[in-house]
Amino acid sequence: MIDDLLRRLGIRDGHSGACAGTWIDRPAGEPITSINPSTGDPIASVVSASIADYDTAVDRAIDAFHRWRTVPPPHRGEIVRQIGNALRQHKEDLGLLVSLEVGKIRSEGRGEVQEMIDMADFAVGLSRQLYGLTIATERPDHRMFEQWLPLGPVGILTAFNFPVAVWAWNAMIAAVCGNSMIWKPSPQAPLTSIAVQHLVNQVMGQTEYDGVFALAIGGAELGARMADDERLPLVSATGSVAMGKAIAPRIASRLGRSLLELGGNNAIIVTPKANLDLALRAVAFAAVGTAGQRCTTLRRLIIHESIAEGFFDRLASAYRSFPIGNPCDDEAVLVGPLISEAAVKAMLDAVEAAKDQGGEVVCGGRRVDRPGFFVEPTLIRAKAAMPIVQQETFAPILYGMTYTDLDEAIALHNDVAEGLSSAIFTDDLRESERFLSAQGSDCGIANVNIGTSGAEIGGAFGGEKATGGGREAGSDSWKAYMRRQTCTVNFGSTLPLAQGVQFPITPEG
Ligand code: NAD
Repeated sequence: MIDDLLRRLGIRDGHSGACAGTWIDRPAGEPITSINPSTGDPIASVVSASIADYDTAVDRAIDAFHRWRTVPPPHRGEIVRQIGNALRQHKEDLGLLVSLEVGKIRSEGRGEVQEMIDMADFAVGLSRQLYGLTIATERPDHRMFEQWLPLGPVGILTAFNFPVAVWAWNAMIAAVCGNSMIWKPSPQAPLTSIAVQHLVNQVMGQTEYDGVFALAIGGAELGARMADDERLPLVSATGSVAMGKAIAPRIASRLGRSLLELGGNNAIIVTPKANLDLALRAVAFAAVGTAGQRCTTLRRLIIHESIAEGFFDRLASAYRSFPIGNPCDDEAVLVGPLISEAAVKAMLDAVEAAKDQGGEVVCGGRRVDRPGFFVEPTLIRAKAAMPIVQQETFAPILYGMTYTDLDEAIALHNDVAEGLSSAIFTDDLRESERFLSAQGSDCGIANVNIGTSGAEIGGAFGGEKATGGGREAGSDSWKAYMRRQTCTVNFGSTLPLAQGVQFPITPEG
């Protein structure tokens, strides 16, 4: 099954992980083995990009940028449309590869590819809407307006847990904005990036713009090189807060731009006025979906003390009913594996730390006895003062805490370093509006009667505080990928100066 799948997607064992349109023939980087987290077995080995390979790919991306930036945006959109269609044609296989390589359940594997397709469609429409403002000018016979122009080659660093969708958030928009780009995927998911790049190459190879989309597979060392690379005016980086703290100062020191999409420590408040059936479903999906490996995964449940006991009981029985297993073998599986042995260890360590700090494991907390990297969805009754509650453990651990009044709940909610996604469950307008007010959630995403995960692409996605402040995907996120130019045109025959400044000069000097 695996060999056939890789062949259909144009991947061969020992594939080169560096390319800019055409594959670099003899990459010199270290081999990286892609592991199937559902079995622990190797899937294939990829030759990563050396720094020299990366430099060659960026040179090609710069060359491509010089041609691509002259293409009218709607024509760029037409090429992005073809990329979207190529992804559509291969949705089933690509979705299966996502499940194979990072362990997502099948509907989420397909959903990840759908998100790429949606981003392509969104970008096609956007290619006719890269508009600026016309601004009233104080000077007679003048016109002032702003326009948005391409930036240059954009660096894109992605995390393992959305191995291709996050690339699409960046790449589809960056492309219609007139940029070329170089993508460094997670070394834990090299095959999905090769498969996507292969499809993109097939489309771009039919155009004069081969090289607009480049790929360089490697680890943190390559990411650091991108952060330092003055040829990249923008580096868009998705991953842990630690990664953001490592690269942001490097990018800033060369006065480059960074767009950071970092970790979350997301919470839901459930009030006594909530529809508890709705809340239960939302909490379960947000906390356990993707085996707790989403940046928007629910990590903290803040529930009113009057309803907590019954809710914890119902949640625990839902947790025990979830089918755990290899998503590639069984469509009914709802909980796949963690990404690696290290992730299992981090999860078990967090459970032990929670117990040491006074937490009570309501259900789960153990490794599942089978090959691969499986753990039980875990609910821990906790106190906000426990240090472990402040930590994003990338696993299905939910800390359940109680509150007595809403102001206390909102204070608990905001009392973490990150500020990504948040939600309240209530049917009381006063409570929901308070949560959405300036005294409410401090996150980039705030929902009412919807869980913290599973955002649509039409909105701007991202978070505040230690989540990094970046926004990607919909709304006006495209502006991050362009440079704004304010233009003033004098169509008169005098030269009035702004603010009434006088500077008379006789024509003779
Ligand atoms: P990670 O930080 O380990 O790696 C992310 C990317 O950064 C990878 O490409 C990696 O090779 C690179 N990298 C890591 N350290 C680096 C360094 N010091 N210098 C340069 N590059 C470096 O993250 P991960 O384990 O792949 O993904 C999980 C994390 O990503 C979680 O914290 C999750 O919340 C976060 N995440 C955030 C979003 C978002 O949109 N906010 C989306 C997905 C994942």
